[in-house]
Amino acid sequence: LISSQTSPGLHVVHIAAEMAPVAKVGGLGDVVAGLGKALQKKGHLVEIILPKYDCMQYDRVPDLMALDVVLESYFDGRLFKNKVWVGTVEGLPVYFIEPLHPDKFFWRGQFYGERDDFKRFSFFSRAALELLLQSGKKPDIIHCHDWQTAFVAPLYWDLYAPKGLNSGRICFTCHNFEYQGTARASELASCGLDVHQLNRPDRMQDNSAHDRINAVKGAVVFSNIVTTVSPTYAQEVRTAEGGHGLHSTLNFHSKKFVGILNGIDADAWNPATDAYLKVQYSANDRQGKAENKEALRRILRLSSADVKRPLVGCITRLVPQKGVHLIRHAIYRTLELGGQFVLLGSSPREFEGIASHFANHDHIRLILKYDDSLSHTIYAASDMFIIPSIFEPCGLTQMIAMRYGSIPIARKTGGLNDSVFDVDDDTVPLQFRNGYSFLTPDEQGLNGAMERAFDLYMNNPGSWQQLVQKVMNIDFSWDTSASQYEELYSKSVARARVAART
Ligand code: ADP
Repeated sequence: LISSQTSPGLHVVHIAAEMAPVAKVGGLGDVVAGLGKALQKKGHLVEIILPKYDCMQYDRVPDLMALDVVLESYFDGRLFKNKVWVGTVEGLPVYFIEPLHPDKFFWRGQFYGERDDFKRFSFFSRAALELLLQSGKKPDIIHCHDWQTAFVAPLYWDLYAPKGLNSGRICFTCHNFEYQGTARASELASCGLDVHQLNRPDRMQDNSAHDRINAVKGAVVFSNIVTTVSPTYAQEVRTAEGGHGLHSTLNFHSKKFVGILNGIDADAWNPATDAYLKVQYSANDRQGKAENKEALRRILRLSSADVKRPLVGCITRLVPQKGVHLIRHAIYRTLELGGQFVLLGSSPREFEGIASHFANHDHIRLILKYDDSLSHTIYAASDMFIIPSIFEPCGLTQMIAMRYGSIPIARKTGGLNDSVFDVDDDTVPLQFRNGYSFLTPDEQGLNGAMERAFDLYMNNPGSWQQLVQKVMNIDFSWDTSASQYEELYSKSVARARVAART
């Protein structure tokens, strides 16, 4: 195995189920790549461990190669072999674990949604730690993400620290507390954890079902640092209404729990260099934006009769969290207000009916799939961007939209509340106001925000253009957020060193 070079900074290893652009379902993938790159730029040694999925974008890892080692890891009472691959993604060294287990855990044509997800990812969490142990790496920070790699925290302290992989601190980031990885308590034994020790209220036992264990709760209890992806969401999940059953655990561990707003990858999302766009453009030269709008209309066969007609975009997983009924309402309301609507939505079951209903409509196009390149062209072409989420841990689309000069219309919740500030809100200093927001998650709430946006767009084009220029200049890069992680990591490592000396 490749040994780590010495570096004056910290050695950080992310163990995750996603990383953009090779294996991305949503924001988690963006964060692993964006935070990783930002920390690497600050002089830290950052490595990533991912499952080797059959459905990855292999063309984004041109130097992928198999290492000449066999990694054995424990599961269900015996050892299984794993093949380990290494490659560079976005300039970051990535290890891909391919289990040679008969169940072909990552050979399923999709990332998640399999019956045995709990098994697949508890296997992967253990194999990732085994990789660190056997390669002799001594990371300062092992950063795991979401329930899929939450197992890393208890595995590390219960099994791997005693085996000598004890140089590091564990950071756990929860990107969405809706998904907690619960299972019958006995299933925890497969990856070698001690069910009897861990199925206790102060450890991994689910707070509402006592015969079940909860992976995210385990990571909250066993990690040194616990973060989530925005300050407002960190507050919301500490309440009974927003905590998805984990509020008491988070309150008990509140000293190590913080919310840090995600950044966006400012290189991947840059209208001045974006190769997916017909014409590149920037805050000071926005002519290209209009050309991208025209190009998208042509590609999607939308009417170009009225050049000025505003284009409303929405790019999302179509799941209840995202306010699916409000997205549907926004489509009809846009039409009434004289705009055009383009939806790019994945996981779309309930939208198939209305997508075909609007198949040849002049002003509406619903595209029900995941399509990265199309997403870039929609951000660039749209004037406004709808995000009516019921809850939103951070949300990236509002920030990407702003970088591309599309004004967000967003519900005031979670990270949206920390990044979208209403142009008419007198309590917010003028220089921070950057979009339209509404509090009540119903049609009236959304209507009010949409009407105000359309009013400014149609009746005050000069002010609208000023707003577009302003939002394009906001710095949503990872720089600030990565500095906050850096500080948390450093403090935790320093505390560990002091403790080791005493
Ligand atoms: P979540 O992680 O809940 O899906 P985020 O707003 O944090 O939501 O991140 C969404 C990311 O996924 C953004 O980069 C967005 O552009 C992308 N995305 C969402 N749906 C699609 C889709 N259907 N096609 C392409 N990209 C998508």
